[in-house]
Amino acid sequence: MTARILVIDDLEANIRLLEARLSAEYYEVLTARDGPSGIALAARETPDIILLDVMMPEMDGFAVCRILKEDLATRHIPVVLVTALDGRGDRVAGLEAGADDFLTKPIDDVMLFARVRSLTRLKAVMDELREREASGRRIGVIAGAASRLGGSGGRILVVDDNARQAERLAAELAIEHRPVIEADPEKALIAARGPVDLLIINASAKSFDGLRVAAQIRTDDSTRNLPLLAVVDFDQRPRLIKALEIGVNDLLARPVDPGELSARVRTQIRRKRYTDYLRHNLDQSLELAVTDQLTGLHNRRYMAGQLKALVERAARGGEPVSLLAIDIDHFKKINDGFGHDVGDEVLREFAIRLSANVRAIDVPVRHGGEEFLVVMPDTRLEDARRIAERIRLHVAGSPFRVMGGQEALDVTISIGVAASLAGETQTEGLLKRADAAMYEAKAGGRNRVIMRAA
Ligand code: GH3
Ligand code: MG
Ligand code: MG
Repeated sequence: MTARILVIDDLEANIRLLEARLSAEYYEVLTARDGPSGIALAARETPDIILLDVMMPEMDGFAVCRILKEDLATRHIPVVLVTALDGRGDRVAGLEAGADDFLTKPIDDVMLFARVRSLTRLKAVMDELREREASGRRIGVIAGAASRLGGSGGRILVVDDNARQAERLAAELAIEHRPVIEADPEKALIAARGPVDLLIINASAKSFDGLRVAAQIRTDDSTRNLPLLAVVDFDQRPRLIKALEIGVNDLLARPVDPGELSARVRTQIRRKRYTDYLRHNLDQSLELAVTDQLTGLHNRRYMAGQLKALVERAARGGEPVSLLAIDIDHFKKINDGFGHDVGDEVLREFAIRLSANVRAIDVPVRHGGEEFLVVMPDTRLEDARRIAERIRLHVAGSPFRVMGGQEALDVTISIGVAASLAGETQTEGLLKRADAAMYEAKAGGRNRVIMRAA
């Protein structure tokens, strides 16, 4: 995943160095030599990540960060503050200014790329959410919920056999989150399948191989999307690289700096929540797109695709597709006599009776208003007629109880039956024949099934 990175630093040498390293990894690099021009560039170019030097004359990194985070046009861009090695105070001030993460000078390559990758992923899901929200508000499907998706209150599993280190981490995390310590890697793998937002694994544990645990988490279907932070010893370079290869989301150097811990944990938890939210909403909007809201049956849009595929398949040989066109008789009278809400109740009750009287392979559809279709794969006309008759009887056979049981309405339906013809590849003719048969049933006195062969 590539990204556009804006580097803001007053020292030419620092800019050159970062530019060379990032370009070598195919990141696109933009540069600015002072705060004001960096802010202008950020607003104009909306990069994916901003690497921001703290120590700059006139406007320092904190001030720049604050302005970036106040501006609606740039507040969603992750900012990484580049601080001096002993800059603990800087990190606290940075968090207050709204920075998303930290890098310490001299900048370590592995850490630089771990940070950039982790934040690029967060930015990608946030962008997608922002896009969905922008279009969602227009069509009224997705409520604006981005603000609720913070990075605190996370359920964090700390996998570490070093009791002192684990407790120190947990105490630090407990300020914002709900940490649990697990020293046994087997138990950790089981716990990870439960409600957990983030795993922090000690990659230098004595009694187990933390990277092996990380790899197992990544290969288990129920945990593979779980964010992983590895606590690593900085002088073990090959382990750092190995950790990233395995798919650890980010690295924390030992001893763990509280500011970095807080920032990195929050990034991972936010990304998980955004991702979960997107996945949930995607499912929901897919569901909405193919389902009728009143009856829960499939809608016309879904039916069109299904019917087309089935007709084409039938045309290549095999049994035909049959189609029932169903219309409720004198439905307008129900609306007029009892109100629209009672009309809706009847539609829902009809959908239940319909679903109960078709076979598992049949697809009942609300085609619109009080008109329904049943798509019947691999079904001959005569079998379809038999099922239509069964549906008709189950509707006319007992009254519809409405208004909490206060009223019982007699409801009948007219059904037209048709089947696809040999070599027929379009759905249009089939739909027309079923419809014509249904109108014939109406004209013939309603509450009946009429079959149309061709
Ligand atoms: P026919 O026997 O000829 O089919 O008569 P009908 O009254 O059923 O047919 P018509 O097409 O004249 O009226 C259908 C009515 O269904 C008109 C419309 O207001 C009503 N309708 C359409 N959709 C809904 C809905 O979602 N809820 C309710 N309650 N009524 C609906
Ligand atoms: Mg009707
Ligand atoms: Mg009608």
